[in-house]
Amino acid sequence: MPSPPSRTRHLILVLGDQLDHQASCFDGFDPGRDHVWMAEVAQESTHVWSSKQRIAVFLSSMRHFWDELLNKKIPLHYVQLDDPDNTGSLAGELTRAIAFFKPTALVMTAPGDWRVLESIRLVASKHGIPLDIREDRHFFSAVREFAEHAKGRKQVRLEYWYRELRQKTGVLMEKDTAVKGTKSSASDAKLSKQPIGGQWNFDEDNRESFGKDGPPPIPKPTRFKPDALTKEVIDLVNSKFADHPGTVSATESGFGWPVNREQALVVLKEFIDERLLYFGKYQDAMWAGEPWLFHSHLAVALNLKLLSSHEVVAAAEEAFHQGKAPLSSVEGFIRQILGWREYVRGVYWTQMPGYLERNHLNATNPLPDFFWTGDTDAACLRDTITQTLETGYAHHIQRLMVTGLYCLLARIDPKQVHEWYLSVYVDAVEWVELPNTLGMSQYADGGLMASKPYAATGKYIDRMSNYCKGCRYNPAESTGESACPFTRLYWDFLLRHRALLAKNPRMVMQIKNLDRRLAKTT
Ligand code: FAD
Ligand code: SF4
Repeated sequence: MPSPPSRTRHLILVLGDQLDHQASCFDGFDPGRDHVWMAEVAQESTHVWSSKQRIAVFLSSMRHFWDELLNKKIPLHYVQLDDPDNTGSLAGELTRAIAFFKPTALVMTAPGDWRVLESIRLVASKHGIPLDIREDRHFFSAVREFAEHAKGRKQVRLEYWYRELRQKTGVLMEKDTAVKGTKSSASDAKLSKQPIGGQWNFDEDNRESFGKDGPPPIPKPTRFKPDALTKEVIDLVNSKFADHPGTVSATESGFGWPVNREQALVVLKEFIDERLLYFGKYQDAMWAGEPWLFHSHLAVALNLKLLSSHEVVAAAEEAFHQGKAPLSSVEGFIRQILGWREYVRGVYWTQMPGYLERNHLNATNPLPDFFWTGDTDAACLRDTITQTLETGYAHHIQRLMVTGLYCLLARIDPKQVHEWYLSVYVDAVEWVELPNTLGMSQYADGGLMASKPYAATGKYIDRMSNYCKGCRYNPAESTGESACPFTRLYWDFLLRHRALLAKNPRMVMQIKNLDRRLAKTT
């Protein structure tokens, strides 16, 4: 370690998913008295068996941020993974740093994960050092605002929270000019309560499949050629985490994620200019061998805070006003960020730590081995899992209605499902992954998030993709040699949970179909 300044006032803790130069932890930073601390620790890659793509994206982004801070001449203590004195845990490294710097206080932006916050709190209290946790300005809302909104509600639906945030921020809202007779100026403008276009969401327009002709030409997304820093990280990952899932190599096809703000801004611009136009329309569509489609691929840059959610939403809104993309696409995209992202963060922080243990449907089967290899005859699962292990990416409907749907129907233990999702995606951080997996996809929270389980037969996948054309199973069959596993498991799922699901008004049609089917067979 370098020699510490004569007296360290604040030790500023910057975590791997807090790579934002404008973050609140830097407010009032005094280079003469304060020191930034960052640490690469093996525990963050092993507490779940993280994929090589995910580890590489985090480590490379951290090292690029480190470089940027050094260029800004910010006093920084950075612990590398292969430092021989590295204890391998966040708590261990923080303890070492406290002993060395003897700071009067620890300062940080609110961390994303409950586990990390608890571990830092414990170290601070053991050493009797004050811990100043500051608001994360990356988000549009504070967790306490969500808690206020959720108070007294049995179910907390996205739609109402999203509307509240649209009204609060004025995003995609009609603007009224000032009351007649007063001087007119920009500052006179006040927000009305009306959404632009007269409706809050355009879901109905955003569910198209590609049809039998397949997708229109898909613009090739930029993949960034690994630079020297990234190459070093990839070598490290391949030697230290050789037995972890997936692959990573120092080629454009082997690793192409943005690892600094400059690259993240390229991805944002490219999405707005080339893919936003079709984002809404084909949001739910899938196509074999086409992982990227018209999605933004921005989750990793957002979750590591290389981009602010405010600038991403502003860029999409501006594209609408400039006529570059239709309202249905722009609203559909903004709803994911201003709506879903803020909503799942609120659910996570108001429900943890108990949320992790929920298992409403008592699902206890182990995760099948093919989730780690892609070695299965089911074409949709094979394509989604193989792509995931090679790139660290799958889009929302692949996550929800292929891998997630399979786990729901096959009654896989939701904790194992959660650990898989947290391991394999480059954008996986617990505050956003856990509610999506446990709540939305597995219904393990008993309907806190989803108004009904996302249960469907293989016919849904057939409608939204071309997977079934290249599969040895038939989505219409539920028995026999060529029965689709989804269709077979679907009827079993309904039968097993009939009593519970029959109470849900949104399941009426599905239960009626089940009963009709049972009547025919008896
Ligand atoms: P796009 O389709 O282009 O969407 C735009 C942006 O909206 C995303 O970048 C993301 O920031 C946000 N977004 C979209 N859907 C959601 C959502 N449901 N919740 C929160 N934000 C959303 N997202 C993660 O960021 N990290 C995860 O670990 C994660 N795990 C998931 C697990 C399951 C089981 C499911 C069903 C969804 C999960 N999601 C997760 C949400 C979503 O699937 C991903 O954000 C999205 O696929 C990332 O690809 P993209 O950037 O191209 O997104
Ligand atoms: Fe998937 Fe069933 Fe279609 Fe095969 S037939 S691709 S298993 S949905």
